Amino acid sequence: MKFKIHRGTKEIGGSCVEIWTANSRIFLDMGMPLVDEKREQFNFEKYKNLEVNELVKQKILPDTKGIYDSKDRLIDGVLISHPHLDHFGFIKFVNEKVKIFLGEATHKIIEISNIFTSSNYQIKNYEYFEKEKLFQIGDFRIIPYWNDHSAFDSYSFLIEASGKSIFYSGDFRDHGRKSKVFKRFLNNAPQNVDYLILEGTTIGRNKIKNKTEIEVENELIKVFSESQKINLVYVAGQNIDRLVSIFKACLKAKKILVIDVYIAKILTELSKFSKVPYPSDSYNIRVIFSYYSCKKLTEEGNEKVMFQFKKYKITKDEISNQSGRIVMIVRPSMKIDLKGINNLQSGNLIYSMWEGYLKKDYTNDFIEYLKNLNFLIHKIHTSGHADIYALQKMVTAIKPKNIVPIHTFDSNLYQKYFNFPIINCNDREEINV
Ligand SMILES: [Zn+2]
Ligand SMILES: [Zn+2]
Repeated sequence: MKFKIHRGTKEIGGSCVEIWTANSRIFLDMGMPLVDEKREQFNFEKYKNLEVNELVKQKILPDTKGIYDSKDRLIDGVLISHPHLDHFGFIKFVNEKVKIFLGEATHKIIEISNIFTSSNYQIKNYEYFEKEKLFQIGDFRIIPYWNDHSAFDSYSFLIEASGKSIFYSGDFRDHGRKSKVFKRFLNNAPQNVDYLILEGTTIGRNKIKNKTEIEVENELIKVFSESQKINLVYVAGQNIDRLVSIFKACLKAKKILVIDVYIAKILTELSKFSKVPYPSDSYNIRVIFSYYSCKKLTEEGNEKVMFQFKKYKITKDEISNQSGRIVMIVRPSMKIDLKGINNLQSGNLIYSMWEGYLKKDYTNDFIEYLKNLNFLIHKIHTSGHADIYALQKMVTAIKPKNIVPIHTFDSNLYQKYFNFPIINCNDREEINV
């Protein structure tokens, strides 16, 4: 068995690992980069008109035969670890005869994004894998392990072939709402792994213990309870752990949670997979029919998604009349909706995402708009990634023969933290297992 990391040995994002034997070939993730070679934000708009062979030539897409066109024998499959763009964003270039292996909820999340955003990821040839259930692709025996991560439905993979094994950590943490999942993993971790391909997002950041999602919830309760004005929370709509924390904080602070149709649709669909609150008679959650989401649904004939939440609709007037009781999830495109709400002045904005996004103009403009309305800005967040202590726990549990850094800007620091052989390879370098 051999493998090659196409992207990720020296950067966070764009993860893509090829593994092959004499007979079989698979990819783990097919991510879009987060940064360019200058470590500035990667912008696919710059490349969108290029042909696949040009994208390969410019080292944007992996250079392997049998992924894009069927001139050569096609690869045997692509596994997607979780529904973050830096892990599946280039899936649209994969030949549609190649099977995509992913979690069912991951597929659902991708499909909902297709309805609400300009993204268009049609995955037609797919197979769902299940937690800890072994499946086979050609020579490979694969076991997916469920992860605690800021994305719902995240996995690590154990890949075995010809008596050798690789463990790909994917993105994970141990301080989210599924910390028990990680504890279970530690007691149940695969052994005698030859290569552990280990994410190191937080390596190189200050060696601090990450705040838990429960601590985030408690901070939210405090801010919500102390305010008699409206609370707006700016959070990624797919960070389900955080949405649950916000909902629980609303319950304790006796506030009404208002979400827009996009988040309403995500929570409703995901409630079929695990216990998440969603607009229904069981949960006190109301839905604002946000302008741009509804416009898109209407233009593309998806009005039924709006009707689905009619019973739980809250109008701008209703929000205005009880603004002190409202906690509302927002994003910059909802500025137009906020303009229709009275009593908005002097509220709280809780910024609940990675601080790096604050550099983006559209985030900044939105925050400036609220600052001009005398909003107080609170930053309440915790990382979606393992801190150094959790990384060390995974390594100690697996006791790998070798560790290969991925999804990190600081592969050179692995040696400092792990007492196991570190293979510091470059992108596209072939490793013999
Ligand atoms: Zn990632
Ligand atoms: Zn991720």
